[in-house]
Amino acid sequence: MLYQPKASHFINGEYVEDTAGDVIDVVYPATGETIAKLHAATPAIIDLALNSAKAAQKEWAALSGTERGRVLRKASDMMRERNYELSVIETHDTGKPIQETTVADATSGADALEYFGGLAGSLTGEHIPLAGGDFVYTMREALGVCVGIGAWNYPTQIACWKGAPALACGNSMVFKPSETTPLSALKVAEILIEAGAPKGVYNVVQGYGAVGASLITDPRVAKVSLTGSVPTGRKVYAAAAAEMKHVTMELGGKSPMIVFDDADVENAVGGAILGNFYSSGQVCSNGTRVFVQKGIKEKFLKRLSERLANAKIGDPMDEDVSFGPMVSENQMNIALSYIEKGVAEGARLVYGGKRIEGEGYYLEPAIFADVTDNMSIAREEIFGPVMSVLDFDTEEEVLARANDTEFGLAAGVFTADIMRAHRVVAGFEAGTCYINTYNLAPVEAPFGGSKMSGVGRENSKLAINHFSEMKTVYVSMNDVEAPY
Ligand code: NAD
Repeated sequence: MLYQPKASHFINGEYVEDTAGDVIDVVYPATGETIAKLHAATPAIIDLALNSAKAAQKEWAALSGTERGRVLRKASDMMRERNYELSVIETHDTGKPIQETTVADATSGADALEYFGGLAGSLTGEHIPLAGGDFVYTMREALGVCVGIGAWNYPTQIACWKGAPALACGNSMVFKPSETTPLSALKVAEILIEAGAPKGVYNVVQGYGAVGASLITDPRVAKVSLTGSVPTGRKVYAAAAAEMKHVTMELGGKSPMIVFDDADVENAVGGAILGNFYSSGQVCSNGTRVFVQKGIKEKFLKRLSERLANAKIGDPMDEDVSFGPMVSENQMNIALSYIEKGVAEGARLVYGGKRIEGEGYYLEPAIFADVTDNMSIAREEIFGPVMSVLDFDTEEEVLARANDTEFGLAAGVFTADIMRAHRVVAGFEAGTCYINTYNLAPVEAPFGGSKMSGVGRENSKLAINHFSEMKTVYVSMNDVEAPY
């Protein structure tokens, strides 16, 4: 056991166990060994977490925003101080290289805590003057108990991206991490309580989908924020809608990246690498459909293969390693099955795509060329290191093809023509767009998807609207004029 937390759940400021819950094996993807054993929440654990969150929320909301912000900013500082320790846990949980986790996980969580901690003191309503001296004022109020449900690719970041704005607004949270990566959210909860959040303000319960499902339908819950796949999103959104609960949905994608032949090829290749192979390709916003204008296709493919050959694949705890295993055997097999489909449907595998034999779930990054729009690898989210390169001739044609998908999470364009860059971005049907870069997600900027990729936005000031609601107060300065 590399890291066994004190217990499976963190509720009301302490670790709690109920061994009656289904066993969750935590597997280290680099070796396949079980590194920890946890239990899914039983109904008693779920009840305890929701009661704790409900009881703590009023006290937390009664603090001034500045006081709440101070707690979040302290938690942010603590996360940065413990970055290496947290990164090791993240690497063991996900298999992502320590080279990545030390710069993109706890640090990104800390950014969210710092940013929303800074905003907390400025969350206000407004004053609206009316005729005759009457006026309206609005009060920004917390929603109550919010449920966060996470995916397995960025467990620390997701726990903070949901927790920080929720807590800044005066809500409490019950967070359920993915059953594949349950460890790091427990550390986020520990840190928040140590930083001064009242017990019960941020709780973590473990479990498979059923635990998530029972959280959403509970009458104590006001809102659910999910990061996951489209099929799960449909279920969670429908369950929340039945009780008219607030939702944020951060779902899957099959995002386009368009490279015009006037683009800086090295930048475009760099963008395609980051947008397909970072975290072994397990990033929701990845630009997995890379449309390359015919004039630079061969040059682009050549440089891509040359640069990919420099990726150091191996032990994710080795600081020189830039490409680790996939998160699980299951996810590796899904990616392998798409690679087989790509070959069977006539795409040209120009790089990698083979399982690396030995222990752990290692897969070589794969590049397909000559991909056409209807192939499975160009239509379905793979969530693995599989890039599809498609050819195009004209701007009009490529924009129509880029948008011809049910998803709308992200989209990018590489070109030296400034007018074209803005024209193409204006035409993209996607929530998060990039010009001459790809996949950056600073906390200051809204992040989220259009179409089937999501509802609502995370990060930025916009996230505040998704974790609070306005109360309108009409104040009369005149007599009431009733007709009878
Ligand atoms: P998933 O949909 O299988 O699971 C996501 C979470 O939902 C897990 O915690 C799971 O236990 C829970 N869940 C499953 N069924 C549920 C139900 N009926 N009710 C409530 N909760 C339920 O997704 P995953 O495999 O963990 O993650 C990969 C997916 O997440 C990909 O589609 C990826 O694109 C997406 N993702 C999106 C973003 C984003 O910000 N848009 C970020 C990361 C990942």
